[in-house]
Amino acid sequence: MPDALPPPLQIVEVQRAVAEELDRIAPVIDDLGERFRAAGHELALVGGPVRDAMLGRRHNDLDFTTSARPEQTEKLLQGWADAIWDMGRAFGTIGCRKGDWQVEITTYRSEAYDPSSRNPSVDFGDDLAGDLGRRDFTVNAMAVRLPGREVEDPYGGIVDLAHRVLRTPGRPEDSFSDDPLRMMRAARFAAQLGFTVDPSVVAAMTAMAGRIEIISAERVRDELVKLVCAPYPILGLRLLVDTGLAALVLPELPALALERDEHHRHKDVYEHTLTVLEQAIDLEPRLPGGGPDFVARFAALMHDVGKPRTRRFVDDGTVTFHHHDVVGAKMTRKRMKALRFSNDDIDAVGLLVELHLRFHGYGSGEWTDSAVRRYVRDAGDQIERLHVLTRADCTTRNRRKADRLRRTYDELEERIAVLSEEEELASIRPDLDGNQIMEILGIGPGREVGMAYRFLLELRLDGGPLEPEAAKAALLAWWDARRQ
Ligand code: ATP
Ligand code: MG
Repeated sequence: MPDALPPPLQIVEVQRAVAEELDRIAPVIDDLGERFRAAGHELALVGGPVRDAMLGRRHNDLDFTTSARPEQTEKLLQGWADAIWDMGRAFGTIGCRKGDWQVEITTYRSEAYDPSSRNPSVDFGDDLAGDLGRRDFTVNAMAVRLPGREVEDPYGGIVDLAHRVLRTPGRPEDSFSDDPLRMMRAARFAAQLGFTVDPSVVAAMTAMAGRIEIISAERVRDELVKLVCAPYPILGLRLLVDTGLAALVLPELPALALERDEHHRHKDVYEHTLTVLEQAIDLEPRLPGGGPDFVARFAALMHDVGKPRTRRFVDDGTVTFHHHDVVGAKMTRKRMKALRFSNDDIDAVGLLVELHLRFHGYGSGEWTDSAVRRYVRDAGDQIERLHVLTRADCTTRNRRKADRLRRTYDELEERIAVLSEEEELASIRPDLDGNQIMEILGIGPGREVGMAYRFLLELRLDGGPLEPEAAKAALLAWWDARRQ
C-alpha cells in the first residue's frame, strides 16, 4: 500500500510524458490518424489513455473518438486490423485488435439524457468539443487530435491532473444528475489515481447521493470492484462513507463507526477495518496471484460487519460481540448477492468472514492435529487468503502482543505445512470411497451411504489416515451400533 499520496506534477513533466507516450504508440496512432484524415474524418485519442500518458502510465488499450459513424469506422478498419468486433455498435463503438494493441473507436457523442432512466440514450454528435463536454472529469476530458497530435484540453484537465484533483467539466450537480454513476466513478478514480476530489464535487456527491439508487446494481458493483482493487482504496472508501454514498451501496461499512461508549471499552471498528484492509494489501505478495486480490480485500473490509448487531455490554464493564463471525458472514453474503456478485465470489468472501476468528481459539498452540486439519479443510482453497486476513486482523499498538500473535501464526502455518506434506490436507477424503462403503455394508446408493461417508470423514479428520482394514473395521462397528 503506498504510504503517502503522490506529489503534484510540473506541467512540463506532464507534457514530456505525453510526448514520450505518443512516440511509443506512434505505430498505431500515425497509421490510424492518416487513414481517417484521408477519408475526410476527424480522429483523436481520448480519455483514459491521454490521462494515463500524462501520468507516465502506459497501456496497450487505446480509446479514440471520431466524427465517422460506426459503419464508416468499420470500413476504415477493414484491411488494417487483425480482428474487428462490434458489440458496442449501438453505443457507437467499434473495437479491434492490431498486434498487441486493443483499439476502441467511438463516434462523437452528444447525449440527450432522460433523468428518470438508468442509461443515457445515445445521440451522435459532430464535434470534439461537444464530445469532451459530456465526459465525467476534466482529466478524462482531454484528447490528442490525429495525425497532427494537437492536445485538446478545453476544461483545464492538464492543470487539474498536475494538482491531482478531480473536477467535472461543468457544474457537478448537472453532471451527476445526467448520470449518477459518475459519483461512484469519482470515488473510483480517487482510489485509482490517488487524486483528491474537488470540494464542489464532494458537496454535489453529498447532496445527490440518493440518486445512485436509479443505477443498476451491476454497474455500481463494477465501480466498487475497481475501487477496492485500486492502489488507494481507503481514499475512495472514506469518500463513499463521508458523502453518504456508502450508506446506500454498502451500508455495512458506515455502520461500523459505532459510537464509542464513555469508557472506550472497544476500538472504533470502522478505523480498525480500514487498517485491516491496509495490512491485508501489504500481505498480498504472499498470495499466489500476488494481488491486487479483490476477494482478500473485500473480506478484510467485511470481516467485522457483524459487530454492530452483536454488541453486548456486560456488567463487568466489558463488551462482547459473540458470533459476529457467523452473523457477519450472513450479512456479507446478503450484500454481495444484492450487488450481483458471482456465487464463487460470494462463497469465498462469506467463508473468510466466517472463519476469520477461528485462529483465536488456537491460544498459544494448543490445537490438536485434528483441529489443524479441520482449519485447513474448512478453509479449502481459501486457506492462503485466510492466512492473510487473520494476520492482517491484528491491529494492536502493543508491539509485544503483535509479535507474539505473528509468531503463533507462523507456528500454525508451519504445522499446516508439515501435516500437508504428510497427508495432502487440502484434499482430505475418507479412507474409503462410496463404492467401497456400499460393498462393505452390502447396501445400494442412498442416504445411509452419505452418513457412512461423513462418519469416515470425521474419523479421518480426528485421527489422520487409516489402513484400509482398520477403516473397514471402524465402518462395520459404526454400522452395527446404528442398527441396535
Ligand atoms: P479504465 O478503462 O482504466 O478503467 P477509463 O478512464 O478508460 O479507465 P472508462 O470507464 O473505460 O474509464 O471510460 C472511458 C472514458 O469514457 C473516460 O475516460 C471518460 O472520459 C468517459 N466516460 C466513461 N463513462 C462515463 C460516464 N458515466 N460519464 C461520463 N464520461 C464517461
Ligand atoms: Mg477504458
